[in-house]
Amino acid sequence: MSGTETIVVIGAGVIGLSTALSIQEHLSSTQSVLLVARDFPSDTSINYASPWAGAHYRPVPGSSPQALREANQALRTFNYIKKVATEEPAAGIKLVQGIEHLEAPPPEYLDSQSVSNVYHFEDFRSLEAEEVPAGVKWGVEYGTYVINSPVYCAHMLRKFIVKGGRTQKYTFVNINEAFALADNVKTVVNCSGTGFGDPKSFIIRGKLITDRGSWILVPLCPYSQTLESIANVDPGQTCLVRNPVSATITRQNEDGTWSFCIPRPLDGGTVIGGTKQPHDWDPNPSPEIRTQLLTNASKWFPFTPESGGQFDVIRDIVGRRPAREGGMRIEVEQVGDGKNIVHAYGAGGRGFELSRGVAEDATALMLESGLLRVQARATL
Ligand SMILES: Cc1cc2nc3c(=O)[nH]c(=O)nc-3n(C[C@H](O)[C@H](O)[C@H](O)COP(=O)(O)OP(=O)(O)OC[C@H]3O[C@@H](n4cnc5c(N)ncnc54)[C@H](O)[C@@H]3O)c2cc1C
Repeated sequence: MSGTETIVVIGAGVIGLSTALSIQEHLSSTQSVLLVARDFPSDTSINYASPWAGAHYRPVPGSSPQALREANQALRTFNYIKKVATEEPAAGIKLVQGIEHLEAPPPEYLDSQSVSNVYHFEDFRSLEAEEVPAGVKWGVEYGTYVINSPVYCAHMLRKFIVKGGRTQKYTFVNINEAFALADNVKTVVNCSGTGFGDPKSFIIRGKLITDRGSWILVPLCPYSQTLESIANVDPGQTCLVRNPVSATITRQNEDGTWSFCIPRPLDGGTVIGGTKQPHDWDPNPSPEIRTQLLTNASKWFPFTPESGGQFDVIRDIVGRRPAREGGMRIEVEQVGDGKNIVHAYGAGGRGFELSRGVAEDATALMLESGLLRVQARATL
């Protein structure tokens, strides 16, 4: 192996896999990539966010530097994902209609600049008052994508290996261990989600449901007293059901909570959500919140008649979104002896939406820093 250089990428979530694939497009003949992680796509862990993601693409309006940076990453990811959806059917991506219904739109939704900064879709359309359900004050539709997240991650891992990438299962206590995992490691790419001791990192809990095969009796309309009594609880929970829907619909309720349905391609069911709980470490799902989510979904989302008034629940899942104050850290850190750590972590609730843009930004930094020596030789 002397003369060859190994680039170690830490993390096999959507950010690590996307970044490893992007780096592979720019390797010189003397470089290779070793992907090292505690969890790979066949694993399930509350601390491994990617397999639990919805995952749909819904822009977040704003004009802050972070909002604009993310909008740019999201747009590049959107164009990339659309291409993959067309060329690689096994990737688990589907182009679908996205619909948003907001009852109490936050200020950024009413600021036309903040909206036009992020809603880049050619077919974007504001909905007229007569086109939205009663109580909805802001409604839009556009063509977007949904991703079967575990399938997409497994697909990317397969592509990485087919292109010559190597993998190793390992849990780091200190990031500097990565420089000793192979001969001649000069560059370590940190796609660990939460970073290593970064005080700005924190987790946002989210849940799905796990009663494999059980049918949950939720009437597809009425709003019960019991549910009213738990309406203000914010458990950060989502739910995977078998019932199909044809579009991804997001609804903001007057009390500020959000509901959404996301069809998972390749017969992966439908994700029903959901709330977010920053800094919440409780690993246990809540049956009451499951009922709340399903009841809301039954009122607002067009499940097909064969549901027969019931939801067919697949599972509860609790996942932790790896968030970071101020947004993602994407930068090169020189650590001495000609060694560098390229950081790309802290995607929070938007890892899939930003993935390709983040991977390109991390790769561009490596090219600028001379850590990759050859320009693109292949794409996709
Ligand atoms: C319920 C839920 C719904 C979501 N919905 C969406 C959505 O609709 N759209 C969207 O874009 N995003 C969504 N997200 C967010 C998305 O899942 C995350 O942003 C994304 O998965 C983060 O990817 P990541 O690669 O940074 O982190 P992860 O997927 O957590 O991967 C981190 C990797 O680093 C490895 N690692 C960490 N520490 C170590 C260590 N010490 N040693 C070795 N390896 C280590 C892990 O094993 C893993 O391989 C959702 C998340 C949840 C939980």
